[in-house]
Amino acid sequence: MARKVLALAEFKGGEVRSVSYEAIAAARMIADGGEVVVGAVGEDVARHTSSFFHYGGDRVVFIESANLRTYTLDGFSQCFQALLEEEEPEAIIMGHTSQGKEVAPKLAAKLESGLISDITDIEVVGENVILTRPIYSGKAFEKRILTDTPLFFTIRPNNIEKLAADPGRDGETKEVAEPSLDLRTVVKEVMQKATSGVDLSEAKVIVAGGRGVKSEEGFKPLQELADVLGGAVGASRGACDAEYCDYSLQIGQTGKVVTPDLYIACGLSGAIQHLAGMSNSKVIVAINKDPEANIFNVADYGIVGDLFEIIPLLIEECKKLKV
Ligand code: FAD
Repeated sequence: MARKVLALAEFKGGEVRSVSYEAIAAARMIADGGEVVVGAVGEDVARHTSSFFHYGGDRVVFIESANLRTYTLDGFSQCFQALLEEEEPEAIIMGHTSQGKEVAPKLAAKLESGLISDITDIEVVGENVILTRPIYSGKAFEKRILTDTPLFFTIRPNNIEKLAADPGRDGETKEVAEPSLDLRTVVKEVMQKATSGVDLSEAKVIVAGGRGVKSEEGFKPLQELADVLGGAVGASRGACDAEYCDYSLQIGQTGKVVTPDLYIACGLSGAIQHLAGMSNSKVIVAINKDPEANIFNVADYGIVGDLFEIIPLLIEECKKLKV
């Protein structure tokens, strides 16, 4: 059944987050031959519209305002609602990111609509659109058949492939007037933490360290390996609690949920709460000196040994491959 679907884009540091293109690809499947409209909200978003067409959008609607320089739940949800009222889509889709996890349930509740969150796969089988999402912290998956719209959907970053870019695609762009905003919070200043530059939740490669890394200094070889592989560094809660690294790196049930192509787990035991955040990674490599460590039960490749001996060897070999 053809549907009109609105994919809501997300930006970070003025650039489009990759999950926005994945949302467009997901919207194409849910649209089932219908129209995919891309919605964008921010201070300076119109310059990105052509990329939304290249990745599969049919039309773009946007609201630009200096009030939207930094994300606030009030500002963004009120503007997204204005786009919904303008377009009246039959389904709305966005990333299962910090922003999506906040905006989608708020709008769904306000509009008395449903929400299917954290979708990791979409299949179209005949008339049916089948959505897969993890439950019980990733220990099981449920499949839902789409029966009713309008509905909100959030997709987990790095799971649904964006479409191949077609630079020849173009479409109609429309600016929607900013609604009169009722803002309860105003962000005056953003103090950015120094990071390697690769966003952990969208990284294709993650090198994660646990308590076995032993110190803040011990994370340096992990960062070097991540840099060589173009990835990001993550951590277990054990490493964060021990103050070897910042809590923003924590992966797991109470940290970030990630699905990279390659997850290298170094000196972490593989507690169930950690697995909840990374066990759906496409390839898992574990380095641990304890052959009985639980992480080996989910690893595709296991290396039993001292991470401080193994990681320098991996860095050396990866550098050779790059030459
Ligand atoms: P450990 O379990 O101590 O493991 C360290 C590992 O390093 C060991 O396996 C050891 O063999 C290995 N090692 C030591 N030295 C070396 C070396 N030189 N070379 C190679 N290997 C070495 N944890 C999370 O990670 N994320 C969460 O989101 C999270 N949420 C939680 C929520 C709740 C409600 C609770 C109760 C716990 C949560 N935890 C979470 C904590 C979790 O239960 C574990 O305590 C934690 O994951 C352990 O961290 P770790 O694997 O780094 O440490």
